[in-house]
Amino acid sequence: MAFKKSTFKMGGIHPPDNKLTRDAPLEVMPLPALLVVPLNQHIGKPAKAVVSVGDQVKRGQLIGTADGFVSANVHAPTSGKIKLIGRAVHPSGQYAEAITIEPDGADEWEAGLNQVCNWRDLSCEEIRKRIQDAGVVGMGGAGFPTHVKLSPPSNKKIDTVILNGAECEPFLTSDYRLMLEKSEEVVRGLEIVASLFNPTPRVIVGIEANKKNALKSIGKAALHKQIELVELDTKYPQGGEKQLITALTGRVIADGQLPFDVGCLVQNVATCFAIDESVSKLRPLTERATTFSGFELKNRKNLWVRLGTRIVDVMEFCGGLTRKINQLIVGGPMMGRAQFSFDIPVTKTTSGVLFIDNTELDSFKDRPCIRCGRCVEVCPQGELPWLLVDKAMRQHADQLPSYGYSRCMECGSCSFVCPAKREIVHWIKYAKAVNARIAAREKAKMETVGKEPKA
Ligand code: SF4
Ligand code: SF4
Repeated sequence: MAFKKSTFKMGGIHPPDNKLTRDAPLEVMPLPALLVVPLNQHIGKPAKAVVSVGDQVKRGQLIGTADGFVSANVHAPTSGKIKLIGRAVHPSGQYAEAITIEPDGADEWEAGLNQVCNWRDLSCEEIRKRIQDAGVVGMGGAGFPTHVKLSPPSNKKIDTVILNGAECEPFLTSDYRLMLEKSEEVVRGLEIVASLFNPTPRVIVGIEANKKNALKSIGKAALHKQIELVELDTKYPQGGEKQLITALTGRVIADGQLPFDVGCLVQNVATCFAIDESVSKLRPLTERATTFSGFELKNRKNLWVRLGTRIVDVMEFCGGLTRKINQLIVGGPMMGRAQFSFDIPVTKTTSGVLFIDNTELDSFKDRPCIRCGRCVEVCPQGELPWLLVDKAMRQHADQLPSYGYSRCMECGSCSFVCPAKREIVHWIKYAKAVNARIAAREKAKMETVGKEPKA
């Protein structure tokens, strides 16, 4: 099969891909002794617990109900007993409410779930409801509730649906394995998404050139369907929504715009798989494919893991570490988040967990900027990263909006190339947080003024 070829034009880098688990088929991680299931595994308000300590639950049973439209349901990943409801370590780096379940080993589904149906018999409303009920969220890392993404404002017409098969972060291979091993399901999930829009949208699959086998398997599953396959250059951050849309359609998302403003809707591979599971098999989101890798992990694997499984249990299943590490990262090495505890659980957005010893890198200290401009060259968003850092370090974070700092997608390309080893993304995140606090304070002030009694 011949593929079209494409990429984004502005910036980008070529870090070593380190896809150490590329050839490791998905294995099933056995059920651990305890599952710690956070009520917040998505963007938006955390779910509210609807079970009590001591309750017996079945797999797929609702244990946390969405608190509003921009929120997501949470389900029991297996059958067992509720042991605890309370705060626990969370991959966000904070403590958050979680429900601890002791599995009973039966792994029994809740009655009425796990039933195969023909999705083509369902109406659009029924499909959206199944996806919402199942608690599906963007599984590439963002965690945006999928039912919200699939319900754009009525004045925004979706004419292009895109499958993001780039998986451009080094080390991560769980999407790649899904495309190889579950290609029919992934393509069906994509068709389900496309069926929600009228007139029928153009459907495009973008896969990086370093995943030739995935191009073939998805190509086979998409044969005789109205789906275009595009081979993308292997370049980071090819999987960024804006970069992908530009590469595949030539459309540019301006500042402040979202993909639906240019008629596009992007879904990640794991999300499409979860959409198919929820619609065609009535299975709520209770497990996911995750890569466990890094040079210091003894047996690196791609695993089917139940949500709530703690990293410490997976580490043991993978044979432990070959030596002490100083970085545990959830996500990829470019955009992932360093963790402070091995007790954090796998959530809906955990695409990968990396065990890394960065001692050598640690010996490099943040040095003054030499104005080489390399960070500007590689920035895919057209930022001036050195200037953003300058302002943030000098406590001028409140001036940053005028420099367009919100455009920064925190891809880490600037930090990767900086010869002075400046912690650019760290400072940009800091500046964003300061600005968010200033904005919240201003909003509260305005609301208070509005409430003051008139003289
Ligand atoms: S982290 Fe932000 S500033 Fe740095 S290259 Fe990526 S988008 Fe540009
Ligand atoms: S890459 Fe580093 S040293 Fe070069 S201009 Fe950017 S911040 Fe300064």
